[in-house]
Amino acid sequence: MSTEEKDLREQICDVGRNLWQRQMVAANDGNISVRLSTGEILCTPASVSKGSLTPEKIAKVDADGQVLEMTAPFRPSTEVRMHLKVYEADPGVRAVVHAHPMYGTVFAVKGEALTLKMLPESVIHMPEIPLAPYATPSTDALGEVVVPFVPTHHGCLLEQHGALTWGADLSDAYLAMERLEYTAKVTYLLRLIGGERELPAEAVATLVGLRSQYGR
Ligand SMILES: [Zn+2]
Repeated sequence: MSTEEKDLREQICDVGRNLWQRQMVAANDGNISVRLSTGEILCTPASVSKGSLTPEKIAKVDADGQVLEMTAPFRPSTEVRMHLKVYEADPGVRAVVHAHPMYGTVFAVKGEALTLKMLPESVIHMPEIPLAPYATPSTDALGEVVVPFVPTHHGCLLEQHGALTWGADLSDAYLAMERLEYTAKVTYLLRLIGGERELPAEAVATLVGLRSQYGR
């Protein structure tokens, strides 16, 4: 096994523990994948808590989802099909994280995208968190509804389901999930006190100028 693959298997386990500890996944929900420099994809197994992942439980599939490596009784998550659509849509994406973070999921069920420009860091890193229309989990359709957002966004809500984020590496994709959930929680709490307030247009324009330094 390459050093790259060994390191990334460990990193997937770390991200899984972070998702679980931060209550962004319940039971066996959520899945994580990474694209290796060979083009092969490491992904989390089905029916395993993200809080108890170990490197040997991680499966390896090719770009079409054919299983290349797995350790019985573990098998790749069926949701990897959604991840493969994201990789296919943008060669720059190297990692994908799917979770059911509490506040993000509340807005996903309500059917509301998060678009208010209230926080400087959000305007720079995730100025808009769109809503991908509902599709059945574990089908190609769930990937297809996300694809239109992949080149221009860092993540989206999945209607009546949860959230998906992606990035240039695993840390990038995971941190986008943290930011998505933070944005959803702030929006929820501000709404309770009637406090939703956007930044002035000039401030947003300045922040958008800074955005170019940070990519997507
Ligand atoms: Zn899910």
